[in-house]
Amino acid sequence: MNIILLGPPGAGKGTQAQRLVEERGMVQLSTGDMLRAARTSGTEMGKKVAEVMDRGDLVTDEIVIGLIREQLEGDAVDGGGAAGFIFDGFPRTLAQADALGALLKELDQPLDRVIELEVNDDVLVDRIVGRAAEAAAKGEPVRADDNEESLKVRLLAYYKQTSPLIGYYYAKGDLVSVDGLASMDEVAASIKDALV
Ligand code: AMP
Repeated sequence: MNIILLGPPGAGKGTQAQRLVEERGMVQLSTGDMLRAARTSGTEMGKKVAEVMDRGDLVTDEIVIGLIREQLEGDAVDGGGAAGFIFDGFPRTLAQADALGALLKELDQPLDRVIELEVNDDVLVDRIVGRAAEAAAKGEPVRADDNEESLKVRLLAYYKQTSPLIGYYYAKGDLVSVDGLASMDEVAASIKDALV
């Protein structure tokens, strides 16, 4: 079963993806994590995307589609994603959604569900500012884009470029919307119900 987790920054996509990895052995494909890894290892691509990411804007479709293609062609073919892939933070534009559809078709893989985590903006700001404060208190690194200024840009990018995907997947009949404001366990239970 291959699924997409869709929702604005701070909606809980990463947390829920992690649970699906632990509970079902699914494979999480987070383009945000891949891009951060590229930055840490100092690749040319990592250097190129750093400024855009810190500002809160989206990196180019070409880069993220390339990253996903590499992962899927490496893994899916030899059954690495036997329990299914969780696309976390991808796709974020209509062009990415089309590219993912084509790629899955090419690999003879289904897209089973698109799970939208619904939240409201005040909660997002509180969660993200809280996430930064919590990391700082524990002496952990704070994400460079977890500040109010970048968050505004990230939210705008979500509404302008990513939220049209809700209609796109609704029209395809793939969309399930879940209340992302419920507790972590309740959200996990709603996702489980959506996956039967
Ligand atoms: P995330 O960890 O998913 O919040 O992503 C962090 C940042 O990485 C985003 O604000 C974007 O700058 C970039 N990014 C991650 N995924 C994508 C994507 N699918 N398309 C474009 N940019 C992305």
